Amino acid sequence: MTNKTLSGKTALVTGSTSGIGLGIARALAAEGANVVLNGFGDAAEITQLQTDLAKEFGVQVAHHNADMSKPAEIESMIAFAGEQFGGVDVLVNNAGIQHVANVEDFPVEKWDAIIAINLTSAFHTSRLVLPRMRANNWGRIINLASTHGLVASAGKSAYVAAKHGLIGLTKAGALETAATGVTVNAICPGFVLTPLVQKQVDARAAKDGISNDAAKKALLADKQPSGEFVTPEELGALAVFLCGDAAKQVRGVAWNMDGGWVAQ
Ligand code: NAD
Repeated sequence: MTNKTLSGKTALVTGSTSGIGLGIARALAAEGANVVLNGFGDAAEITQLQTDLAKEFGVQVAHHNADMSKPAEIESMIAFAGEQFGGVDVLVNNAGIQHVANVEDFPVEKWDAIIAINLTSAFHTSRLVLPRMRANNWGRIINLASTHGLVASAGKSAYVAAKHGLIGLTKAGALETAATGVTVNAICPGFVLTPLVQKQVDARAAKDGISNDAAKKALLADKQPSGEFVTPEELGALAVFLCGDAAKQVRGVAWNMDGGWVAQ
């Protein structure tokens, strides 16, 4: 046995085939957790990712491709985690999508998809893992909200509504479990350079007729005083902290890691 903080535990990270979710899955695996990955992508690349993570960290790594907008598929994924590893001890609700348009132009199906994937999926995963966490009197639920769970930006109504809702779900969940060994918290990143944000960089470059680099700087200059992107590795370290004993009285927070965005 090792003295890694999450040895013997199982972490499910939704939307972890890319970006922040992958960064957090790697950080939890480095602490010894077995991992259930979730998310879309090329099947061979995902299999390779599983093999690489398992080898690098000496843990078991499974993948389930549940579409987080579909409650029945979420139920299958939680059952799968039970079959593979006995259940979920650390749940990271990370899967998310974005769409940018003003309210009057916002496609109805995009609104519904953003609310389903960025908010409602976290209700389904949470309701399905909480009975076991309560029975074990130990568990960690970490919801990937956003600075947009705390403040708004024009053009992001569905995302802002979903992320504010996710912080509300976090607070209610934290109160319901306050006297147990289960904690529920949210992380609120500023801009992280993942495929989700690269699309916004591309849109900015096209709109303003500027280079990719100039568009990155412009996006950051609008919102993030540090002028630097947050990284998946930094967010992974925060998730590891929230899983540790030192964080057992951290309950119901919406912890921004945002280069100063919401301090303004
Ligand atoms: P990303 O696009 O790099 O990754 C998203 C992941 O979710 C991928 O693994 C993708 O396959 C998966 N996914 C998408 N739709 C899915 C669905 N229907 N079912 C299952 N999986 C699905 O995005 P990211 O930037 O890493 O974002 C991760 C989370 O962090 C999101 O909730 C996002 O809102 C949040 N966030 C991102 C930023 C940022 O700047 N990138 C900032 C704040 C919050």
